Amino acid sequence: MCDLCMKHGAGGKWYLNAEHYSNRIAERYNLRDFLLEQYKNFEQISIRKFRGFNAVGLGYKLRMPIIGRIVKHTAEKLLHSTNPPTNPFRPEGHIGQVVPLEDAVAILETCAAEPIIEKNCMCRYMSRGIKEACCINFGVMSEIVDKLPRFIPEKDKYHLTRRQAVERFTEHNKKGYIGSIWFGPFPYINNLCSCASPECAGIRPRLDYGIKSIYKSEYIVDPDPDKCTGCRACVSVCQFKAIGYDHALKRITLDYKKCFGCGVCRHACKQEALFLKPRDEVHGLGKNY
Ligand code: SF4
Ligand code: SF4
Ligand code: SF4
Repeated sequence: MCDLCMKHGAGGKWYLNAEHYSNRIAERYNLRDFLLEQYKNFEQISIRKFRGFNAVGLGYKLRMPIIGRIVKHTAEKLLHSTNPPTNPFRPEGHIGQVVPLEDAVAILETCAAEPIIEKNCMCRYMSRGIKEACCINFGVMSEIVDKLPRFIPEKDKYHLTRRQAVERFTEHNKKGYIGSIWFGPFPYINNLCSCASPECAGIRPRLDYGIKSIYKSEYIVDPDPDKCTGCRACVSVCQFKAIGYDHALKRITLDYKKCFGCGVCRHACKQEALFLKPRDEVHGLGKNY
């Protein structure tokens, strides 16, 4: 369990605390103006320097002895900041966690502030130049997107009812996209994403450089070996490479340390042999978030 979860989710799921979605929080920190400024200048944020460093050539900087450790520490400190947000040109307090479909539905049904919209994913746009509507936003974040045409999907309706939001998220999840929920910035939750690796600017630093930009979900995959036929349909669906295949045994193998508990492998399994179970029920994983 990460410090943020312990401190702001009463030791449970921070993202099921409706307080973090409230307009009251957004207003307390003047987030309407903050987010408008931030999203107007979205592309610039990664190239702006913070304490002498930016994300340009990040891999090279991280491989340098001493400097690499400083860069990693600086990046994590910025992303994990719980100070009141002040500078819209920094991704401070922007930390996320993977969520499976069930928890995303609970967020959409009980916590998300209205209005709810779907906007184009900026990570995919910046890395592949494609516009794909798969980020679901809440509250004041939805209001500011109305003022930023490039985020608005090319379809008539991007304002969603709760039911439509659940349907859209389910569609993305069944495609194999990874559900993730984000503080943006802390303590305000306004983004339920459907991510793909390596495009996702949250998942990539975690997988490539071990930067805690996103946490694993509260769950872990739990296969039923009696039901598994070894068809391998789930192997390529796992974006974290947690599922392998043993050709001699003709069975899948699982690397539990790699499993982020996104649950999307379950959609690929026609035998219904894959489940999720709470991460803390697995002995020997320790604080493997
Ligand atoms: S976090 Fe995920 S869905 Fe959100 S903008 Fe990035 S890749 Fe897109
Ligand atoms: S998709 Fe299901 S049946 Fe096929 S290998 Fe994976 S767990 Fe086994
Ligand atoms: S094995 Fe784990 S990380 Fe991979 S798809 Fe399944 S739940 Fe997600």
